[in-house]
Amino acid sequence: MRRPGTQGFGILLYVTNYTAKVSSSTSGWKFRSLNFAFLLLMAAGLTALAQVPAAPPTVTNNSSPTFTGQQPGAQSGNTASSPATSPQSPITRPGLNIVVLDPAHGGTDTGARGTGGIRESEIVLQFAMQVRRALEAQGFQVVQTRLGDENPSFDDRSALANAQTGAVFVTLHVASTGLPGTVRVYVNSSLPGGRDSSGLVPWDRAQSPFLTLSQKLGDFVQGNLAQKFRGSPGTAQASAVRQLRTTAAPAVAVEISSVVVADRQDLDRMAPGVADAIARGVAAFRPSYVVASMSGASR
Ligand SMILES: [Zn+2]
Repeated sequence: MRRPGTQGFGILLYVTNYTAKVSSSTSGWKFRSLNFAFLLLMAAGLTALAQVPAAPPTVTNNSSPTFTGQQPGAQSGNTASSPATSPQSPITRPGLNIVVLDPAHGGTDTGARGTGGIRESEIVLQFAMQVRRALEAQGFQVVQTRLGDENPSFDDRSALANAQTGAVFVTLHVASTGLPGTVRVYVNSSLPGGRDSSGLVPWDRAQSPFLTLSQKLGDFVQGNLAQKFRGSPGTAQASAVRQLRTTAAPAVAVEISSVVVADRQDLDRMAPGVADAIARGVAAFRPSYVVASMSGASR
């Protein structure tokens, strides 16, 4: 094994010689004491340098098991205690803070396609960018299931949502049906509720405990959309939505009509209104989410 300490000592000797030469060629007490201070500083610095690379072999050295065992223990003890006692720990606001935004389809799955070549997978990604900005302006943190032309599985997308605390899930679609210029919000239709024999909610029924909250969220979003897009329903409708079924959070599908428009700009023009309505709807839902989680915990 290389001994890093030797190298540091060599440099120290070289500097000592160099300083001595400079020192002997000059006269005067002041200069020499400055030189001495410089030498001390260099020595301290080099000693520190020599010790840095020497430390890891000490920790991993098998010949000193007591020290090796104690040091990581002491370190992990400090790490564990500091977040609990530190006054600088980030304060997490209880309740709803995160929106998991799901631009549906992507990759090889283009979704609905219009005769004019409009692809649902592209449109929803562009809508998502505007929805994200509107939600962030309302103070929400946004997590997207995809940022580019990828196609995560239904389970991947749900898993991302299910890993969050204090989140709702919004999946974005562009339909091939419906009156162009209208928007519909769907919540999952009722699922066989309850837990399985092991006491857990099965993955494919994860939405079941959240159906009431999802309906509430859906109604808030749909109500805001109806104000902007005439001909849209007033409340959210129930339907069997594959993506929502496995999502363990208040979850809605927003479906914009439609890919059959001749001019793509007809859809693009809807994006700011859709984004604003979703953000306002989620913000209006926020107090309901807090109340519901607290009563749920006390059961
Ligand atoms: Zn779709």
